[in-house]
Amino acid sequence: MNRCITCRMRVNANRAHITISYKGERYLVCCPLCQAEFERHPEKYIQLSEVKKTRH
Ligand SMILES: [Zn+2]
Repeated sequence: MNRCITCRMRVNANRAHITISYKGERYLVCCPLCQAEFERHPEKYIQLSEVKKTRH
């Protein structure tokens, strides 16, 4: 299961808006708005997703 890196919404990998490559990792993004938001604060959203991973 994949999630949009910005809004954490479930995204089918085939239907995602785009996949962003950042520092060697690839992140799914659901829409242009989330893409713009991720590009403004990439570190913030990556950090949030890492925290959720380790806590689960
Ligand atoms: Zn999104």
